[in-house]
Amino acid sequence: MKQQTIVTLDLEGVLVPEIWIAFAEKTGIEQLKLTTRDIPDYDELMTGRLAILNEHGLKLADIQEVIGTLSPLGGAKAFLDELRSITQVVILSDTFLEFAKPLMEQLAWPTIFCHDLEIDSEGRVANYRLRQPDQKRKAVAVFRSLNYRVIAAGDSYNDTTMLGEANTGFLFRSPDNVKAEFPQFRSAEEYDELMGLIRSELAG
Ligand SMILES: [Mg+2]
Repeated sequence: MKQQTIVTLDLEGVLVPEIWIAFAEKTGIEQLKLTTRDIPDYDELMTGRLAILNEHGLKLADIQEVIGTLSPLGGAKAFLDELRSITQVVILSDTFLEFAKPLMEQLAWPTIFCHDLEIDSEGRVANYRLRQPDQKRKAVAVFRSLNYRVIAAGDSYNDTTMLGEANTGFLFRSPDNVKAEFPQFRSAEEYDELMGLIRSELAG
């Protein structure tokens, strides 16, 4: 009997825009444009972001207001709908539940595993809580232990251990430095191209 499959997808850069970049554009704070593409160490990146928010007196509500104005990337919803009709899909993201919600609604509430934020009594982001370090890779390992074949796709450094743990990993719209550093993963730039790669894995 053929093994069942789960596709695990990164969120930001794959299905929705980079939330922090959109927020940086609205507030004009250039330093908030750095992402995992620029700083591979996630703790270093997040600690820096929270310090900048507090320096500027910005609260969760300010961030959520911006996220409420964002839309999924063009074609993302149709891609995800099609994918969910042919296999199981779980989004594995290093974002936070508080940020993801308005975008998950627009994507018809797919399953997402991510982190959460600690908010103080004044609504400031006091800290972030990783539900578990290296959760993307660990989720894939667990799915495989449940006898699923896992196909993973992501764009950044924080996806590469997930891609490596999966039976098959694809880069999607990755910057050239990530593609050059991880040539073992095939890459796609458009949703129909990624769908074709996934469909050929499902058929194989
Ligand atoms: Mg990403």
